[in-house]
Amino acid sequence: MARTKKVGITGRFGARYGRKAKRSVKNIEENMKQKHVCPRCDRPYVKRVSAGIWKCTKCGTVFTGGAYVPETPMVKSATRNIKGLGGD
Ligand SMILES: [Zn+2]
Repeated sequence: MARTKKVGITGRFGARYGRKAKRSVKNIEENMKQKHVCPRCDRPYVKRVSAGIWKCTKCGTVFTGGAYVPETPMVKSATRNIKGLGGD
C-alpha cells in the first residue's frame, strides 16, 4: 500500500499521466505551497489569487506571473509540460 507514496501529493492523478509529468506537477504544487517573495517589497507575503495572478498581502501589490508560481524559469518549462498534457 505504499503505491501512492512514490508520487506524493500527485497520487490523485492516478495512472492518467506519465511519471515524468507527475514529477513536474509535484514540483509545481510544492512550489505553490511555499512562500513567495514580493517583487516590490521583497517580503514573503505573496499569495496566489488565481492562475497567473499574485498578490502581496503586505504591500497590496497585484502582479501577474506563472500560473503556479510567481516567477521561476525552471518552473516555467514545467508549466508548459502541464499545458502540453491537454488537461480536461
Ligand atoms: Zn509586497
